[in-house]
Amino acid sequence: MEEKRGLKNRGYSHADVDERRTAVEKFTGTSLENISKYCFDSEKASKNIENMIGATQIPLGFAGPVIINGDNAKGEFIIPLATTEGALTASVSRGMSVINDGGGARVRVFQDGMTRAPVFRTNGLDHCAEIMDWIGKNTELLSSVVSTTTNHGKLTSAEPFPAGRNLYIRFTYETGDAMGMNMATIATEAVCKEIENHTGAIMVSVSGNMCSDKKPSAINMIRGRGKTVIAEAVIPKDVVEKRLHASTESIVETNIRKNLIGSSMSVTLGANAHAANMVAAIYIATGQDPAQVVSGSMTTTMCENVDGDLYIAIRMPSVEVGTVGGGTRLPSQAEALAMIGCLGDEKAKKLAEIVAVTVLAGELSTLSAQAAGHLGKAHQELGR
Ligand code: NAP
Repeated sequence: MEEKRGLKNRGYSHADVDERRTAVEKFTGTSLENISKYCFDSEKASKNIENMIGATQIPLGFAGPVIINGDNAKGEFIIPLATTEGALTASVSRGMSVINDGGGARVRVFQDGMTRAPVFRTNGLDHCAEIMDWIGKNTELLSSVVSTTTNHGKLTSAEPFPAGRNLYIRFTYETGDAMGMNMATIATEAVCKEIENHTGAIMVSVSGNMCSDKKPSAINMIRGRGKTVIAEAVIPKDVVEKRLHASTESIVETNIRKNLIGSSMSVTLGANAHAANMVAAIYIATGQDPAQVVSGSMTTTMCENVDGDLYIAIRMPSVEVGTVGGGTRLPSQAEALAMIGCLGDEKAKKLAEIVAVTVLAGELSTLSAQAAGHLGKAHQELGR
């Protein structure tokens, strides 16, 4: 049927893409003139998309520079942000400039591990216990199975969650500089075959949703997924007053009543002003999987009054980023990664730290705008 309509996915040369788009134009009765304009190699994009008909352009701006004192990201950085939300890059830039006035942001990665959690059907509680016992005694065998599927991936833990005749095993992997979701999924499928062969367990799905990928989840908030990153900064009292037009007390109060109590009232996972905004913009710019903004949104923002100065910190339990593989292969995204020195090997933790400081700056700026009552005005002036 699709072939008949001329819509079938036949190839990735520029001509194939043109032909497919022309068929879609005919089918939908629309002109896709702007979608037809793109400059990357469509053959190379074949690992990133099927049925390609062109490209969507998103404006790219920058925020910064910002001074980062991370374990991996050190120095001044200009951050690429792709967004359609007016006022966002200006607001993040303001936050960064204020962080610089306080001497920069400190950031570190506390934990690193990508997870996949298959669900097995078992015969009941005793069978669950037997399978758990077998896995516990055979971690070396399972690690060797993983190494047949990947050079960079390493199994670091297998945490069981039995529930009736269901057994969920949350496997955690080191994934080098890849975000690791394909890597972990391929490795887990191989590991599951081994578990099935030795224990009689039946894998129902390689993803039993205890992973948890692209869903807001308490397990990721508590245990972490990808990189767990914490960033902090101290803003001197006079800088708060002169640059943010607010007081330390009013920002701390806004954080408590809005981010902490308000998020608790609405039962939000995480407690922040708009972490997802910064996460989405930097993820899209640098070729990360945009659906993983979900986990990035589970950020907790903390503010304290320290002798009049403002201490601000954010905890991001689940920064799922990579500097190889996935969308990082695409040329604009690779250039954006290069802007922050994050293209290629040994760069994924550095990228995670930069993401966290970008979120910190956005949180600082928006919280203080709300404390000062300026949020609507800024959006009216810049975003409309
Ligand atoms: P990938 O591009 O599928 O795999 C990374 C590749 O890079 C591997 O072939 C790896 O080789 C190689 N590599 C080279 N240098 C490396 C280094 N320094 N560190 C790590 N790997 C290195 O990427 P992925 O991160 O595993 O998966 C990301 C993609 O998965 C994204 O496109 C995302 O949208 C998608 N995704 C998939 C699922 C799923 O369930 N499958 C779910 C969500 C998202 P070795 O493996 O031999 O080490």
